[in-house]
Amino acid sequence: MTGKSSNDADRLRVASQYRDIEDRISEACARAGRKREEVTLIGVTKTVEPSLINAALDAGLRHIGENRVQEYLSKKDALHLDGVQTHLIGHLQTNKVKSIVGKVDMIQSVDSLRLATQIEKASAALELVTPILVEVNIGGEESKSGVAAEETERLLTELSRFTHLSVQGLMTIPPISDSDAKKRHYFSKMRELFIDIRSKNIDNVSMHILSMGMSDDFEAAVSEGSTMVRVGTAIFGKRCYPV
Ligand SMILES: *Cc1c(COP(=O)(O)O)cnc(C)c1O
Repeated sequence: MTGKSSNDADRLRVASQYRDIEDRISEACARAGRKREEVTLIGVTKTVEPSLINAALDAGLRHIGENRVQEYLSKKDALHLDGVQTHLIGHLQTNKVKSIVGKVDMIQSVDSLRLATQIEKASAALELVTPILVEVNIGGEESKSGVAAEETERLLTELSRFTHLSVQGLMTIPPISDSDAKKRHYFSKMRELFIDIRSKNIDNVSMHILSMGMSDDFEAAVSEGSTMVRVGTAIFGKRCYPV
C-alpha cells in the first residue's frame, strides 16, 4: 500500500510489538481481575501492507480489522488468514454492502436501520447469517457515525426481526481526549449501556461483545469491561496516510 515493501527488520518489529500488546492486555486483565480469554485483540490493519500484516499473523494475531471495503478486498488474498477472523470496523456505505457481506466474519459498524436492512438483504441472498455489532456514538458527537446511546435499544429491537443478521454486541469510538479520566467516563457509560441492554433480553440479540479501546487507551478500556480491543498503531507503527 505504501509503495515500498517491508524488510525483515520491519517485520520483526511488528511481531515484537504484537507480543508486547499481548503482554499488556494480559497485565491489564490481571489488574482488573479478569481472565485473559475475556478480551479479544483485533489488529487494525488499515494502510498496512500485507507482508507486515502477515508478520503479526505469523506471530499469533488471530483477528484483524479493516476500515475500507476496497482496501480490504485488494489485500485479502495476500494475507495468511487461515484460522483468522476478519472484521470490518470502519463506516460502511450502503452501496458497498454487497461487496463485503460474506467476505468478513463480522461487521462492527452498523449504525442505522437502513444499513442493517441492506446487510440483511445481501446476507439472505447468499443464504448466510452475518454477525454484527451496533456502533454507538457514546460522546454524542455531531461529526461521528454511530447511533445515539438513547436510540440504541430501539434500533436493536428493530433488528431483532432480521433473520440473516446476528447481533453480538456493541462497538464505540469515544471522543478524542488526552485525559484518562474522560476516556474512562465514556468507557464506563458504554459498559452501563451494554449491561442495561443485555438485561432486556431482546429477541435474537446477543450482548456478549463490547468492542472498545484503541492503541492509546486499550488498558483503560479493559479495566472498564471491554471484551474486544482494536489496536493499530501500537502494533504496526504510524500509518503512512490518514484514513
Ligand atoms: C484506526 C482504528 C482503530 C485503531 O486505532 P489506533 O489508534 O491506531 O490503535 C480502532 N478502531 C477503529 C474503528 C479505527 O478506525
